[in-house]
Amino acid sequence: MLAEMTGLNEECGVFGVFGHPEAIQLTYYSLHSMQHRGQEGAGMVISDQVHMQQVKGEGLVTEVFHEDLLKTLSGSASIGHVRYSTAGGGGYENVQPLFFKTHTHSLALAHNGNLTNAIAMREQLERDGSIFQTSSDTEVLAHLIRKHNSLSFKDQIKQSLPMLEGAFAFLIMTEDQMIAALDPLGMRPLSLGKIDGAWAVASETCAFDVIGAEYVREVEPGEMVIIDDEGIRSEYYTKQTERALCSMEYVYFARPDSNVDGLNIHSTRKMLGKQLAKEAFVEADVVTGVPDSSISAAIGFAEESNTPYELGLIKNRYVGRTFIKPSQELREKGVQMKLSPVRKIVEGKRVVMVDDSIVRGTTSKKIVSMLREAGAKEVHVRISSPPITNPCYYGIDTSSAGELIAAKRNVAEICQLIGADSLSYLSIDGMLEAIGRPSSMKNCGQCLACFTGNYPTEIHDHTVRPHEKISLI
Ligand code: AMP
Ligand code: SF4
Repeated sequence: MLAEMTGLNEECGVFGVFGHPEAIQLTYYSLHSMQHRGQEGAGMVISDQVHMQQVKGEGLVTEVFHEDLLKTLSGSASIGHVRYSTAGGGGYENVQPLFFKTHTHSLALAHNGNLTNAIAMREQLERDGSIFQTSSDTEVLAHLIRKHNSLSFKDQIKQSLPMLEGAFAFLIMTEDQMIAALDPLGMRPLSLGKIDGAWAVASETCAFDVIGAEYVREVEPGEMVIIDDEGIRSEYYTKQTERALCSMEYVYFARPDSNVDGLNIHSTRKMLGKQLAKEAFVEADVVTGVPDSSISAAIGFAEESNTPYELGLIKNRYVGRTFIKPSQELREKGVQMKLSPVRKIVEGKRVVMVDDSIVRGTTSKKIVSMLREAGAKEVHVRISSPPITNPCYYGIDTSSAGELIAAKRNVAEICQLIGADSLSYLSIDGMLEAIGRPSSMKNCGQCLACFTGNYPTEIHDHTVRPHEKISLI
């Protein structure tokens, strides 16, 4: 059960638009642009101001929303979601947005992030009479909202959000109102945009670019942005805020053309690569990156180290994800199907292979051996983030502690395991410097927990019942 609950809402993407005649199409295109944030389920809930309808399913955006289906829907407001969950966290009922009907109004919820006190909250709510429909932590918010139903809708949410802990970027919609809310640490990205006079909210700004919306600003930690026929208003459900944005958004997760908290992802990754070259230069003939997420860092490394950047690895785009394949053997096969070395480029060469991160070590190990088989004389692995030594409880699938290769090994041991001639990671200070938020700042504004073990919130669900941790591994 814990594995199921904590595996939900991983790395998702949310989009919402209010007051636009093309709301459904805009949601479709935006979700499509954020497909990298989740490929296991997609959904949208639409409102025509009187009724709300839900469409959702397992699979890719193009599989879930057929053109014929979209034509049957109408509405001027919509929230949508793409979902990525780890093994065990699936199931149609957990695909979002979650949708509830009460005798007063309907309610739709889309959530990016992961709550760290969901189990405790759920137990409390069940004791008080709630009956849950899903095993999603997101549903906790719906029950909390309902408990405050003597208040206005906005105040129901305002009272409920402070009871949640962990990471959340929520889009909440009723027939005539949309509310965007971010957790007090702003752990997940959430941006506000405008299109043809209508307000839009998205996890990533690439969604605005694809529909021609203009970026306005970030939703701030602890903020609720309320959008309805009267326009837009901002309120804070808490003033106890301090940004701790997920560093992995910069390292791996977001799309290179997106800007997260004002920083372009491609440029930031290039800086990570440059910093890595300063810290861990090695004499080589070519630099190559693991497509797609490491290309920007590899370009930066090549530029800084004055070594030619080459396409030494090609990605087959038509293979599914390798990361959460159930067995190690299948994962390794997955990497082999997905990536091929370019023999002409690497044969007889000293190759620097840049990847953005090592989680279990499957990808690096396989790539090192593929490059050697293709004739590389030396393979030096450079990682544009620090070692991942701790699990993430905030919705990024960095795996469980037992599987993390760096949890109990030093760099030399990992280098030997992956079979590289040398291995270096970026330092934590170097990463912050490259992101432009150096550790000398009073608050660097970044979450670093998977690199340091210092979690910026309580993680009740993982500490109150230690015996259940076992089911995560
Ligand atoms: P692994 O093969 O388990 O070491 O995973 C590392 C590879 O997965 C790297 O190539 C990363 O680009 C990618 N990666 C890193 N973090 C994640 C994540 N949270 N979800 C999926 N893939 C990831
Ligand atoms: Fe991101 Fe790591 Fe923090 Fe999780 S623990 S939110 S992956 S920085």
